[in-house]
Amino acid sequence: MKKKHYLYLVLVLILSVFSIYWFSDEPFQSKKHSTLLIKNGKIYTSNPKQPWAEAMLIKDEKISFIGSSKEALKVSNNVSETINLNGKLVLPGLIDSHTHPGLVALFADVNPIPEGSIKEKLEWLKSFNKENPDLPYIIAGTWFWEDFDKNGPHKRDLDAIVNDKPVILVEDWGHSIWVNSKALEMMGVNKSTKDPVANLSFFYRDKNGEPTGWIKEFAAFPFLKKLLKINKEDLEFVLEFFLNYLSSNGVTTLFDGGNFNFDNDVYEALNKLDKEGKLHHTYEASYHVFLPEHINIAIDELKKLKKKYQSDNLNFNTIKIHFDGIKEIRTAAVSKVYNDDLHNKGNILVAEDVLTNFIEELHKEKIDLHVHTVGDFAIKTALNAYERATEKFGKLNTKLTLSHLEIMDPKDIDRMKKLNVVANFTPHWHGDPAPFLDDVLGERNKHIMKAQPLIDNQTIVTFSSDITSPAEYNRSNPFLGMQVAHNRQDIEGGKTAPIMEPLSERLDLKDLIKGYTINGAKQLKLQNKLGSLEKGKNADFIILDHNIFNSDRYDIHNAKIKYTFKNGNRVFIRNFKANVNEKLIEWLY
Ligand SMILES: [Zn+2]
Repeated sequence: MKKKHYLYLVLVLILSVFSIYWFSDEPFQSKKHSTLLIKNGKIYTSNPKQPWAEAMLIKDEKISFIGSSKEALKVSNNVSETINLNGKLVLPGLIDSHTHPGLVALFADVNPIPEGSIKEKLEWLKSFNKENPDLPYIIAGTWFWEDFDKNGPHKRDLDAIVNDKPVILVEDWGHSIWVNSKALEMMGVNKSTKDPVANLSFFYRDKNGEPTGWIKEFAAFPFLKKLLKINKEDLEFVLEFFLNYLSSNGVTTLFDGGNFNFDNDVYEALNKLDKEGKLHHTYEASYHVFLPEHINIAIDELKKLKKKYQSDNLNFNTIKIHFDGIKEIRTAAVSKVYNDDLHNKGNILVAEDVLTNFIEELHKEKIDLHVHTVGDFAIKTALNAYERATEKFGKLNTKLTLSHLEIMDPKDIDRMKKLNVVANFTPHWHGDPAPFLDDVLGERNKHIMKAQPLIDNQTIVTFSSDITSPAEYNRSNPFLGMQVAHNRQDIEGGKTAPIMEPLSERLDLKDLIKGYTINGAKQLKLQNKLGSLEKGKNADFIILDHNIFNSDRYDIHNAKIKYTFKNGNRVFIRNFKANVNEKLIEWLY
């Protein structure tokens, strides 16, 4: 969520003159090796019983041996290819256990507003509207709520520029929009319209109850779904590009944290890519619940998606709930009021009873649950619901993951472990002390995003990038996430970047790798197949150009992948073209 332009379209233009294999000169689906031997390496396995090895044999997409180079040579026969690692580091393929390739692709169509003051942004809107008279609507981003007082932006400023077609301006955090009167009119929203969820997904109003045009969280998505025209080719193009970018950063498995009501469009495109042999990830998909009424249809909708799009690489076994909002726009559900808004505690999507009943249904259907929980009240309520269902049924078939966990009551730490709930963090957020949030959260701002107590308590902790727009492309790199969480400092500013207290939250590199590998596999219930380098598991691994265990703590994010292997096939090869493309992305973002 950096304050950067949407330069994505420029990137797409430049890259479209390159061949389809942007990151490689060779086809991604290299032929199956009868046996591949890799030797003389430093192989970190994520298997506590054998943390390090030197060599691996890969046969029929699986690891058939892992151990010393000497032993490997003894047991190998019919080796068709040998890679001499010369001491290079190998890690298991990385797992991004909460991200949004679909949203990255959908948001590629959002027109970039140049950085500047609100006045300058409105000037931009004026000329953009003049230059594009035939557009049926204008969607652009981004702007910052910090540029307004707490009543936020107002529709009248947009109406003065465009009043004959809907204008939708996306806020930088992606959790609210600013619209003009025409958009509200087309949505059928007026003074008497009920908010979907008060203090969470709602139409901000003036003192007379009139909607101001600031729409928080997801109240407008049903309208956006009707309005936005999805170009299938563009969607596939960007999805493929982003997934290849993830491969080039070592990601071989991911969980899709939801696409709002665009799930069907996104999974249709992914299914097509898979059929064309272009999906090189184990892709754990989800159905996205973001309005209360979705709870009633979620299980059926997930089953429909599964029936239509399930494939070898694309799995549907999880429902994602956006249970609260974000602290920045005061929609996260907190147990004590916001310091600068004394009547507001944010809100949760549905009451504890409703969530408890839903978890019981999921248990019967053996479906997993992934819940967005930022505020302490949201975390506590989700744990209460899961605990109540557990008391009724004993061990549940539904694995629960709580993501973000930004403001957490220390009393709930033990319950996470006791209930075997997975704690999912987004480590590239763990380096921004955000002093402006002191006004919003008060003392609470000094105790946010703390993973260490959960790690110390043996909870399964996983890590992810939660990327939702092309503007954050480079932050999907897990090594960037590792560095930020290892230092509690952002990448920008290097050694001198401000530290996000407390220093006891500087996470150990091995805990970070564990969270990006075997623990990610446990979250997705794939630990018998992948997540560590062990005999019989899928040959998902990456070869790095330098050893991050020995590197400077401010250089971890510069680790470059030489090869990414998925099921024993090379899906990324660092060559000249890969380097050129990477430089282009660095230049643009
Ligand atoms: Zn997310």
